[in-house]
This record gives sequence, structure tokens and C-alpha cells, in this order.
Amino acid sequence: MTASHLPRRIVIAGGGTAGWMTAAALARTLGPVAEVTLVESEQIGTIGVGESTIPPLVTYNRLLGINEAEFMRATQATFKLGINFENWRVPGENYFHSFGGTGKDHWSAGFQHFWLNGRERGHTAPYGEYCLELKAAEAGKFAHLPDDRMNYAYQLDSGLYAKFLRAMAEADGTIRIEGKIARVELDGETGDIAALVLEGDRRIAGDLFIDCTGFRALLIEGALRAGYDDWTHWLPCDSAIAIQTSSVRPPVPYTRAIAHEAGWQWRIPLQHRQGNGVVYCSDYLAHEAALKKLLLTVEGEKLVKPNHIRFRTGARRKQWHRNCVAVGLSGGFMEPLESTSIHLIQRAILRIVRMLPAGAISQRDIDEFNDQQFTDMEQIRDFLVLHYKATDRRDTPFWRHCASMEIPASLEHKIELFRETGRVFRKNEELFAENSWVQVMMGQGINPQSHHPVAAKLRDEELKHLLGSLREQVSRTVAALPSHGDYVARYCGAE
Ligand code: FAD
Repeated sequence: MTASHLPRRIVIAGGGTAGWMTAAALARTLGPVAEVTLVESEQIGTIGVGESTIPPLVTYNRLLGINEAEFMRATQATFKLGINFENWRVPGENYFHSFGGTGKDHWSAGFQHFWLNGRERGHTAPYGEYCLELKAAEAGKFAHLPDDRMNYAYQLDSGLYAKFLRAMAEADGTIRIEGKIARVELDGETGDIAALVLEGDRRIAGDLFIDCTGFRALLIEGALRAGYDDWTHWLPCDSAIAIQTSSVRPPVPYTRAIAHEAGWQWRIPLQHRQGNGVVYCSDYLAHEAALKKLLLTVEGEKLVKPNHIRFRTGARRKQWHRNCVAVGLSGGFMEPLESTSIHLIQRAILRIVRMLPAGAISQRDIDEFNDQQFTDMEQIRDFLVLHYKATDRRDTPFWRHCASMEIPASLEHKIELFRETGRVFRKNEELFAENSWVQVMMGQGINPQSHHPVAAKLRDEELKHLLGSLREQVSRTVAALPSHGDYVARYCGAE
């Protein structure tokens, strides 16, 4: 990109969740300052999965001024309080990774230190008993609480979400062009992208191009060869099969992630249906066996044909290269174990908006963007690898492989620090907070050998009072909540 002009013409290639989330945000934020054009091809279609999200999406929707009840009606969304991990440490056992905090942190030490100390003094209540979101999820309850005291996200139909955002983006001036991109034209002098050329030779010129073409990565890789870091040696699953079924019971406010002999399965309850899928490593499980496993375990009537997806876990080396930014699957992919893909889309969009300066776009902005986006991806990668590495499962070749694989040094450090001291530190605005790491590490069977001495300072009665009052507060609040299904029906029917 030349250093002398604003990207006035922003061209988005692709209209999946990534494309329309980008268009909606750019059109609303930049309005007439920039002309936003989106090209998509109905003939090619979208990936058709991506239903479970994490709390920052609530903020994204609020930033865009979206009415929540309207959004939930349009996307058939339910509320989500976390993920239930089943069979991950050992078959037959489960733990919950909830949103929000557990207990009450002291400035010097997280709540886990007090809980660990309590355990030594004979307090046997599980860690999760002190978490509002977890107990509400277990009870199948939900309500909005004052001061956002209940942390939540959504389980939604991402196709409907893209449609909802499309209406918004078009109302805000986004120009949508239906067509198939046949080639990407580069500027002979600068090497930047000059235009997208559609079948039939229509040419769409632009200043800044956002690649939302999914796994195809037509611009960032096809034209600009940004490179890809392959992470399959840390996250070996490479395949998924998704299927939608009719609902057979009221929706629960959480996603299920159920480990099997060579990967895991998801269950995501929406208002009108349930999303199901199996994720697996094709070196250890054949496609037919994975499909059979999925079809045998789903409940309800099958609403679509199974959707088989192959993927290569990793990250585009340069997420922003020249005048092109990769957003969504074109920027890389990690399996949906912690529902982080839509979040990465959102992070990229907010960064693009933040880094669009009044004058020229500098290489420093580009470098900063790449550094921040890549750091996000590495941190998420580490968190996902934790689920596979820290396990007592040795029952199949897949799990034996995971238990013996080498892991990133950053994760090794985090695990060993926690094991020795019970401490977790959040660096560089990391997505997953201390409580997330603590829940998953303990759930996967990592038990700290010590804890912060500040917890020992409390006298027996003080600790008993602290733990007792926190539990009491959680159970009193949960008792007063309505059922999640009733609340969703009322909330979505209300406005
Ligand atoms: P796509 O949906 O593939 O969209 C690509 C767009 O580019 C389409 O509009 C297509 O028509 C267009 N296009 C491509 N080539 C051309 C061309 N030549 N000309 C014109 N247009 C073109 N994320 C979560 O956050 N939570 C989840 O629970 C979750 N589950 C997932 C499960 C699986 C198995 C997979 C694979 C992904 C999951 N994801 C999840 C990720 C999520 O699906 C994606 O991040 C999200 O859908 C964004 O996809 P996209 O828009 O980048 O790509």
C-alpha cells in the first residue's frame, strides 16, 4: 500500500460469518468515510458451521448497537455459560469450563489458592461450587443479572447471524456483489492487490482488501503467498463431520465437548435445533467410523446431510500482508474446542478499525497487527493443546500419542508453574483469564503441589466463613433463577 492515501475503497472478498461481521463493523464505524464492498458467491457457499461463541461477542454486538432480543430471535440463539468437558481426563469423568470467575480473588492470589488451602483444612466442596455460571449451567438456569454479574455468550446459527449482519451492513451502505472471483490482479509496480476480477471480467478495484474467502484464502495466500505455520504436530485432529438435528428437549445453557477414542464430539443446543459434530484425527479414525459414531450418538431427527470438513490446524504467517488482511478461516484455523474462531474474527476486525489511521497506513501498523493477532492465536493454541496433553487417558493410540507429544515451551512453562505453585499469569491481554486456566488444568488432572501463603494467614473461622458465604451466595442466586429454556422463550418473545 502506498503511504499517501487512506484506504477509502475497502473490498471484502467472501460473505461467510467473517465477511459479514467485517462488513457490518466497518460500515457502521467508518460509514461514508470508506466505501465498503463485499463480493460473495452463493454458488460456492459458506462453511456452514460455527455455532458456539464466547463472551466477547456480547461486547461486539453492543459496539454495533445490536438489540440483543432481536439478534437472538433472528439467529435462534440460546445463552451459553461455558463448556462441559466429558471423558477428557479419563472416560466417565467430566469437568466444566465456565465463563466468569470462581469465588473471590485477593489482589495477591487467585481464589484457587484459598480453595487449595481450604482443602488442606478439610473443606471438601469442589472448586466449581463457588462459581455462579457453573452452578447455573448445571441447574439449566439463566437470567440477565444486574451489573453483568452473569457472564455469558451465545450458541447461535451462524448462517442466520451472517444474514442478520448482512441486512445491517447493507442498510449502512455496504455494496454487495454476487459473483465468483476468477483471479486477483496485482499492481505490477507495488505488488499490492489492485483488483478482484470476477467471472465475466467484472473488475472490482480497491485500496484495502479483506480476505474472508475461508480455507481457500484466495487473496492472502493464493495471490500474496503469506505463508502458513502448520500446528498439526500439537493439535493432530484434521477432520470434522457436522450434522444438525431437531431438538428433543429444552436447550441447556452450555456446549458439550465429549472426548472419544481419537478426538471429540460437540453438542450445541439452539432454539430451533441442535448442532452436532465429531472432530477426529484421520490417522487414528477412518471417516466411515467417525460418521457412524456421530450418527449413532445424535438425538432427534436429522435435518441435513452430514457435512464433512478437512482442515489443517495452523496460522497464516502474515495475517496482514501488503494491502490485504486475512479475517476468518483464511487467517488460520484451530478446532472449535473452546469456540474461539468467531472470536478471532472479532479481534481482527476491531484491530483493523483501530489501526486505520487518519493518514497513511504504515508498515508499523501492519507489523503491530500481525504481532497482536499471532500472539492471540498462539495463546489459544496453547490452551487447546493443554486439553490433549494433560490427560490420564492412555486407552487408545491417539491418546497415547497426545500424552507423549512435545508441547510449545510457553505451555510447558505455564503447566509446570501451576503444578508447582498454583499460579497462572495472564500476559499480553490474553483471552483466557486465570480462572479458565485453573478450571481446565485442574479438570485435566493437574494438581498444584503448593499455593500462595496468603491463604494460610486466615484463621480457621475466617476461612470457613469466607468459603461458606461464597457458596451460600452462589446457591441463593441460582435458586432464584428461571429455567434457561423459559427465559429464552420469554426474552425473545418480549420485544
Ligand atoms: P466461509 O464460511 O467458508 O466463507 C467463505 C466465503 O468466501 C463464502 O461466502 C464463499 O462464497 C466466499 N468465496 C470463496 N471463494 C470465492 C470465490 N472464488 N468467489 C467469490 N466468493 C468466494 N467457530 C466458532 O467460533 N465456534 C464454533 O463452534 C465453531 N465450530 C466450527 C466447527 C468446524 C468443524 C469448523 C471447520 C469451524 C468451526 N468454527 C467455529 C469456525 C467458523 O465456522 C468460522 O470461523 C466462521 O464460519 C468463518 O468462516 P469464514 O467466513 O472465514 O469462511
